Amino acid sequence: MGTRHGVWLAATFFAIMSISSNTGAQEADRPNGTRVKALSSGKMTGIPTDRLTKSQLKAWESILEIVLAKNREGHPVHPALYERQRQVDTSGHEIQAELSTPRATMRAVGLCRLEVPPESTRKTVILVGLNLGMIDRALASGRSRRADGFIPIAGLSKKERYAEALGHELAHVVQLLTGPDYRSLCQERQALADRRSQDVQCIGRLTSSIEKPAEAAEIEIWRELAASLEPNM
Ligand SMILES: [Zn+2]
Repeated sequence: MGTRHGVWLAATFFAIMSISSNTGAQEADRPNGTRVKALSSGKMTGIPTDRLTKSQLKAWESILEIVLAKNREGHPVHPALYERQRQVDTSGHEIQAELSTPRATMRAVGLCRLEVPPESTRKTVILVGLNLGMIDRALASGRSRRADGFIPIAGLSKKERYAEALGHELAHVVQLLTGPDYRSLCQERQALADRRSQDVQCIGRLTSSIEKPAEAAEIEIWRELAASLEPNM
C-alpha cells in the first residue's frame, strides 16, 4: 500500500503550489468512472451527518472511535495516532474527509491534499481520504513487506486497518503543515511529474524521502493498534 501514495501526493503538492483549483489534476488520483464521495467538511471530531450515507457515517465514526479512544486514566489508547489527529485538528485549517465506496477501485488506499486559497486570510483546506474497499481487500503478506521489513495492516482487524491508513495520511498532513523542507520535496517531485519526467531515479529518491516520515509514523501507529488488540488489554 505504501508504494501507491505517489499518485495522490502529486495531487497534494499541486494543490499547495497552484492554489487555484485544477479538476484534472485533482481527479488524477481517481480511476476512470470512480468517484469519491465527499463526506463532510469541518472538524473530524464534529462531522455533520446530513451529508453521509448511513454506512459511511458508521464507518467513519468507527475509525474516529479508535483514533480518539482513551483508557480509564483518560490517556489516549493510541497516542501516536491520537497526536497526529490532534495536530491536524488543531491546526486552524478546514478539514474535509472523503471515503470511497466499499467496491471502489481507486489506485491508492488513501490521499491527503492541502488546498491553499489565494487569499492569505482564508483557511487552508485539508482533505484526507481513505479507500475503504482497497483497504478491505489488501493482503497483509510478505509481498507487501516494505524494505524495512514492515508489513502494513498485519494482524489488524477491519477498523484498525482503516485507522492505520488514516494515521499514515495524517502523518503526511502534519509534515506538510510543519515542514518547509518537506513541502519543497513535494514541490520538486510535482515539478517532475508535471513535465512528465522520465528520471525514475530522481522521482524514486524524492518519493522515498516523502514517504519515509509517514511510513515511520505508520509503524508506530500499527504497534499501538496491534497492542490494543492483544488479549487482556
Ligand atoms: Zn504515503
